[in-house]
Amino acid sequence: MENKLHFYNTLTRKVEQFVPNEDGKVAMYTCGPTVYHYAHIGNLRSYIMEDLLEKTLRYIGYDVKRVMNVTDVGHLSSDADTGEDKMLKGAKREHKTVMEIAKFYTDAFFSDCGKLNIKTPDVVEPATNCVPEFQHMIQVLLDKGFAYQAGGNIYFDTSKLKDYYVFSNQSEKELLVGVRDDVEEDVNKRNKSDFVLWFTKSKFEDQELKWESPWGTGYPGWHIECSCISMKHLGEYMDIHCGGVDNIFPHHTNEIAQSESYLGHKWCNYWFHVHHLNDKSGKMSKSKGDFLTVSLLESKGYNPLVYRMFCLQSHYRKPLEFSYEALDNIGQAYDKLIKRISALSKEGEIDRQQFTTYREKFEAALCDDLNSSMALTVLYDVLKADMSDATKYALAESFDQVLSLDLTKGVGQAAEDVDAELAAMVEQRIAERAEAKKAKDFARADAIRQELLEQGIILKDTREGTLWSRE
Ligand code: AMP
Ligand code: ZN
Repeated sequence: MENKLHFYNTLTRKVEQFVPNEDGKVAMYTCGPTVYHYAHIGNLRSYIMEDLLEKTLRYIGYDVKRVMNVTDVGHLSSDADTGEDKMLKGAKREHKTVMEIAKFYTDAFFSDCGKLNIKTPDVVEPATNCVPEFQHMIQVLLDKGFAYQAGGNIYFDTSKLKDYYVFSNQSEKELLVGVRDDVEEDVNKRNKSDFVLWFTKSKFEDQELKWESPWGTGYPGWHIECSCISMKHLGEYMDIHCGGVDNIFPHHTNEIAQSESYLGHKWCNYWFHVHHLNDKSGKMSKSKGDFLTVSLLESKGYNPLVYRMFCLQSHYRKPLEFSYEALDNIGQAYDKLIKRISALSKEGEIDRQQFTTYREKFEAALCDDLNSSMALTVLYDVLKADMSDATKYALAESFDQVLSLDLTKGVGQAAEDVDAELAAMVEQRIAERAEAKKAKDFARADAIRQELLEQGIILKDTREGTLWSRE
């Protein structure tokens, strides 16, 4: 199959042609949500753009298997294994158990995804399902000398790797700049960049979820779950791994360290990262009191798909600033777009040549590092072009397999709306005519019949009442 898709690979720091391990097939993994709270619309920007990548791959002919974890254990407030356990924090906040919190926010996440037309990955696996797999990988890492036990916990020893900082030229010193003062040092670590594979000596005496292990009762670190869940479903070789840019370090760096040490070979070839959605005050965060959710947008009267279009209008590799003014503008554009498409007639010939020409333009935009705003421009070009309604409709329907903006849901609806309006008007006139007859005002009754006839509506008086039909 022709390899025409190009996108930015964080691993090689360039836009590259995509070539999967197996011809025509793509093994794809997405870091899933940490289900201790609602997803904010920043998180959902990442999932929208990953959905766009998956649908582009399918559109151009690949058979994709996409796997996603759900983080319901092990993710601490700081991605570098310090701070409070996020799930426990959520449970305390709501006076519920961790599993109740996980269930509630997992459902909320998929409901939000549904509203944004984000396809559910082929496999979704919660971390708490896979503890035996985590323990197996940790044991192998210990046996191979990549991990050590200290203070009760198991750590990955980053000094065993030639190139731990695979994504950048960051040195330990450079990374220290990002370390906050209030984060206490873990004295058990041999090297600053080492990370926890299994916690037993938790700071949190009230840790709810704990499992037996050869190293003591405890719970897994966050990073190990993605390595194990992806390998469980996709095997030893992966094509594309996705996440937001904040996942690059330490999460994805640590995933590569432990996966490749475990496997003894290269693991994943392409790393796709989505830049952040920010608000005026900076990065969006769940810890900021009133954060932006899909439900909040809905309560303010926005269609969630307007937010999807807002994301598609900008490139995934650029930070995006959220504002209600910008969303309002997109909302107007979205309404106009839907109206234009709804007015198209589905009937008639599809011009195959024009269809292919525009489909190719659409694919070319997406294959050019996922240029979604250019792909939308191709849709506008279609609507402006000199071609039959049926061809325009067919193209809009086809593009919507990737854009997922419900572009053609309204087609035919317009005709139904007109019918409903007409029926209401006729029923009203029939009622007026019945009143006139009751009042023996036959001239008025006839006038109504005549007036409707001029509009192509025939009245027939029956024992059951007056029926009507079109001429
Ligand atoms: P979390 O639920 O915190 O594990 O994050 C879920 C996903 O959202 C991850 O892929 C993050 O990288 C991504 N993410 C977090 N914050 C943002 C943001 N402001 N904009 C875009 N993506 C984000
Ligand atoms: Zn992950």
